[in-house]
Amino acid sequence: MLTRRPIVPNVIEINFQAGHLLGCNVYLVFDDSEWILIDIGYEETVDEILELVRQLDFPLAKCKMILTTHADVDHAQGLAAAKRRLRTRIGAHPKAADLLRRGDALQTFAEIEPQGIRLAMPPVEVDIELSEGDTIDVGRMRLDVWHAPGHTDHQLAFRLDNVLFCADAIFRDGCVGAIDAHHGSNLVDCAATLRRIRDSDVEWLLPSHGPIFRKDPELLGATIGRIEQYQHMADFGTCAVDWPLIDEWEREIAEGRLPP
Ligand SMILES: [Zn+2]
Repeated sequence: MLTRRPIVPNVIEINFQAGHLLGCNVYLVFDDSEWILIDIGYEETVDEILELVRQLDFPLAKCKMILTTHADVDHAQGLAAAKRRLRTRIGAHPKAADLLRRGDALQTFAEIEPQGIRLAMPPVEVDIELSEGDTIDVGRMRLDVWHAPGHTDHQLAFRLDNVLFCADAIFRDGCVGAIDAHHGSNLVDCAATLRRIRDSDVEWLLPSHGPIFRKDPELLGATIGRIEQYQHMADFGTCAVDWPLIDEWEREIAEGRLPP
């Protein structure tokens, strides 16, 4: 048996517990009677993760469900395998459920043709569709479900007391999950989700990549400012809401103006 090394009370992060990087963060939330996982990562690491869970003395039969923050391949590819092994249920946002059931390769980033990325995305049935305001009991504990769109339209975050499992909404360096039109990203929603996190009384952020960190309103403010700039920049293509230069150009055309 291995010694449990919780990162906050009742929460183990699998990469930290393993002492080496396996992939995206996989959180195990436990009480005496049952436990859940938040995300599972790639298929090739499922066996190692479940073996670690077993060595930590969590009976596999006591897994209540696997929650999915969003349907990206690096978070969700292993869901089908893990569901089979654990005979458990999968919880996800309805829009994520649709992608997971179809094994969608494009919106999940499993296939990015210009970069030669072509990964498997095994279809998996979602058993519990989760939306804003839902709650999930883990023994005597309760998780609140937040709809946290921005990186994707279907991203979920989960609140447990003063802790927020914030998915790809923000990382310790102030970066956010990839902004990509084909992925269903939305800059206005992204900023709104960050404002919600900033204005909440959550104290700790447990993201889906990188270390956990204490919520810092200054860091969040800087990221919100950056995302608000992106909303008016051509760099972000159809994710931008407008492009002020084109409005200026239109005026200059109408006036027949040339550079002085
Ligand atoms: Zn991610």
